Amino acid sequence: MTKMQDIDAIVIGSGVGGLVTATQLAAKGAKVLVLERYLIPGGSAGYFERQGYRFDVGASMIFGLGQNGTTNLLTRALSAVNVSQEAIADPVQIHYHLPEGLDLKVDRVYEKFLQNLTAHFPHEEQGIRRFYDECQKVFKCLNSMDLLSLEEPRYLLRVFFQHPLACLGLVKYLPQNAGDVARRYIKNPQLLKFIDMECYCWSVVPSEMTPMINAGMVFSDRHYGGVNYPKGGVGQIAQKLVQGLEKAGGKIQYQARVTKILTEQGKAVGVQLANGKVYRGKRIVSNATRWDTFEQLLPAESMPRNEKIWQQNYQKSPSFLSLHMGVKESVLPAGTECHHILLEDWEKMTAAEGTIFVSIPTLLDPDLAPNGYHIIHAFTPHWIDDWQELSVSEYEAKKEEAAWRIIDRLEKIFPGLDAELDYLEVGTPRTHRRFLGREDGTYGPIPRRKLWGLLNMPFNRTAIPGLYCVGDSTFPGQGLNAVAFSGFACAHRIAVDLGF
Ligand SMILES: Cc1cc2nc3c(=O)[nH]c(=O)nc-3n(C[C@H](O)[C@H](O)[C@H](O)COP(=O)(O)OP(=O)(O)OC[C@H]3O[C@@H](n4cnc5c(N)ncnc54)[C@H](O)[C@@H]3O)c2cc1C
Repeated sequence: MTKMQDIDAIVIGSGVGGLVTATQLAAKGAKVLVLERYLIPGGSAGYFERQGYRFDVGASMIFGLGQNGTTNLLTRALSAVNVSQEAIADPVQIHYHLPEGLDLKVDRVYEKFLQNLTAHFPHEEQGIRRFYDECQKVFKCLNSMDLLSLEEPRYLLRVFFQHPLACLGLVKYLPQNAGDVARRYIKNPQLLKFIDMECYCWSVVPSEMTPMINAGMVFSDRHYGGVNYPKGGVGQIAQKLVQGLEKAGGKIQYQARVTKILTEQGKAVGVQLANGKVYRGKRIVSNATRWDTFEQLLPAESMPRNEKIWQQNYQKSPSFLSLHMGVKESVLPAGTECHHILLEDWEKMTAAEGTIFVSIPTLLDPDLAPNGYHIIHAFTPHWIDDWQELSVSEYEAKKEEAAWRIIDRLEKIFPGLDAELDYLEVGTPRTHRRFLGREDGTYGPIPRRKLWGLLNMPFNRTAIPGLYCVGDSTFPGQGLNAVAFSGFACAHRIAVDLGF
């Protein structure tokens, strides 16, 4: 057994949630060890390189890299360990290509976005403004305070005395869902479907199941801090956090797959790696999903009761079929935006291969592809069950058929795509499971039914003393800025517990 009892915190996984926890703790003087099963950091915010292209694995619409307020958590996490990341402002968050000719851009300028939307629904002008203004109210509350652990009573008291109105505002919105607020102001069914898509494209559930706190954050921050692309690719964020971690005295080991969280008298005391090596630490943090943590790293049969309840409330969202394409620049019509969403039939919004998400990061950072070429990353929901029990040739054939179905549909936005394709790599839910270490390749937890906003999402502490969870299966959910929040909160709670 390798005894390193002076390790304050062992973090399992170097996703952005794990790295923000680790860097925050290291910046406070804690001794931190991050154990990552893969070759590089970042998890779903990682990257890979092929034939001169640098592809983002997943995330590419990045919130939290702004300069003002308190919700720019990625910028703040980086600067806490004395590193920074150049960010390229994206003038349009999404260009929607939706059924019934609903073609619309979400401009960075709030009033311009409202005008664009109102042009499609002139009779709903007032309702549109009232709904999005209410989202802004949520955001203003969040953006006025330090975002730390809601499990720490002294912090809660301090924030309450400093910002009583903002706190009361947030308490009011905590149990609400965006769809209920939208329906108070908006009646047009097509516009309500648009609001569903506005939520679905990051929460992977329609508006009635999307917490108002998260909607308030996304629908407002895109006009405040804005969507910004990290120069050099999304993988830079994790790489910079690792640089900062090491500068602050923390350590990271790659190809270090944790197979077991070790407990003694019911308390988490260490971890065991696939190669048998054991590390002990005062606190253990899992950046794996809650399913992986409580079913794989700990014995599933002794799962704590509150985790079982959580699983009754939340299920795994689907994974994705991802097409990573290199294309000739002539494919992109003049004025093409970086992010697109394509859907032809509202009924198929949540179905496998219904909504297609597109990202063209080379429009913001041309250095990610060879001269004269662009990257198009297109992905669409898919469930792992459709990809199991296939022979190698069946699997490859299924991948190819699915990829061409997506490319055919994308021809509508990018005529000539098929002919101008220079490189194509297809990832399936199995790829996501294998490379990201996420059960079933899931994007994250989604409510099984309509819940009370964010009230049922667990915080960082778990029922096992000494064990914490961080990342997208903790409050407040998926997305890089959200998991950064979870990381700030987790580190704050651990620092208080350890007396830092
Ligand atoms: C296709 C796709 C598109 C997305 N688009 C966006 C977007 O545009 N904007 C946005 O903000 N978000 C987006 N997201 C979501 C975002 O990427 C995730 O919510 C976020 O990156 C999750 O971070 P995390 O810290 O929770 O965990 P992860 O990124 O899952 O990282 C967990 C890490 O832990 C490691 N690990 C797991 N188990 C072990 C173990 N047993 N031992 C050692 N290491 C382990 C993994 O290898 C991984 O590195 C997207 C995700 C996907 C898949």
